[in-house]
Amino acid sequence: MQYPDPIARLIDSYMKLPGIGQKTATRLAFYTIDMKDEVVNEFAKSLISVKRDLHFCSICGNITEEDPCEICGDPTRDKATILVVEEPKDVMALEKVREYHGLYHVLHGVLSPMEGTGPEDINISSLIKRLHDDQVKEVIIATNATTEGEATAMYLSRLIKPAGIKVTRLAHGLSVGSDIEYADEVTLLKAVEGRREL
Ligand SMILES: [Zn+2]
Repeated sequence: MQYPDPIARLIDSYMKLPGIGQKTATRLAFYTIDMKDEVVNEFAKSLISVKRDLHFCSICGNITEEDPCEICGDPTRDKATILVVEEPKDVMALEKVREYHGLYHVLHGVLSPMEGTGPEDINISSLIKRLHDDQVKEVIIATNATTEGEATAMYLSRLIKPAGIKVTRLAHGLSVGSDIEYADEVTLLKAVEGRREL
């Protein structure tokens, strides 16, 4: 027996989410049928809105409703420091610590020869453009402590240092393979404070 078309389509949609296989997708689809109309409507509206109302900041690449984003547009932020992260959620994690007052740059990925991700596939060229601004004195590289994250940090360091800008790497109280987004605030604060020069 085949599922009616609307259910089959919903199962297909759920399966596009990371870590969701056929079995979980089917369970979620049937769960959705039993949800209240207004809850499902709100859910659908959120999905549309996150794509329609969010953009990438044209300066730093962070997700934002307005361009430039709140951080790039804030005159009180320290323009001498740019902290480079892999994903927008890393910015959120670091902002929660409230101790970092510089700017950010979101790469939207890391270099990965295995997956065919090269420098032109992530948000590097706009970072290099930002360095032409004489105000920038230090770039802190806060990619995750994975093989790809380390390789990306080394690549960026070689690219940036010749411009006479200090390049530092977050100290790794963060354990190897750990993600910034999951680090607790004290660990993150220590990682920023104990950064070392590359
Ligand atoms: Zn921005």
